[in-house]
Amino acid sequence: MRELAPGIHSLGGRKGGHVRAFLLETASELTLVDTLFESNGAQVLAAIDRLGRRPGDLKRIALTHAHRSHLGGLAALKHATGATVLGHAWEADIVAGDRAAQPVGLKPTRPFKTYPFQLGIFLNRPRHVPCLVDEGLADGDQAGPLQVLHLPGHSPGHLGFYWPERGFLVAGDAIATWPRFEGGWPAFTINRTQQVDSLRRMAALEAPLGGVGHGDAVAIDAVGRLHGLAERAASR
Ligand SMILES: [Zn+2]
Ligand SMILES: [Zn+2]
Repeated sequence: MRELAPGIHSLGGRKGGHVRAFLLETASELTLVDTLFESNGAQVLAAIDRLGRRPGDLKRIALTHAHRSHLGGLAALKHATGATVLGHAWEADIVAGDRAAQPVGLKPTRPFKTYPFQLGIFLNRPRHVPCLVDEGLADGDQAGPLQVLHLPGHSPGHLGFYWPERGFLVAGDAIATWPRFEGGWPAFTINRTQQVDSLRRMAALEAPLGGVGHGDAVAIDAVGRLHGLAERAASR
């Protein structure tokens, strides 16, 4: 667990493509964004304990999208905490196990370290433990302290979250820093026009701190780096 800023904790290791989850603390409650790859939720529960909180303090689990690396601990964490599960309606039946994730191509694409995940989507393996989404989220909604941003391109129901008081943006898989810094893994961008719009929208927030789905958060010159990403993506 790494505290990126007061009350903003980054969780995750190398598993799931260096996937990250974010545990967010306010005076009265906890909010989790995404659930890491492992299906036991242990890393999240240990983090809650280290903060001196109880599992029941986790009021909501907000999902960026329904790719396996982000859903691993969901069912276990829902069971252990009773948190409300929130996600975009387009992704909800994938989370529930009723539908496979939107296909991506099989053509090997740089950076090749992401290829196992491309293959995983094609084969729909490994599966996550299905879990119901309790409430749908749409652009402009509020999820605890977070503003909900609909940021499609990587998946149709992909969400980002913004915590205005702390200047913290969760970009989900719309931005990656592992294996390299870019506007989402190229092989996974299923709609380039939407993805460019999503990058522009995130850059316009001018957030000083940007959590991403894979790799370490963008903490230094986040404003400049996000503008650069959006400009490069638009000019391609
Ligand atoms: Zn993804
Ligand atoms: Zn991902």
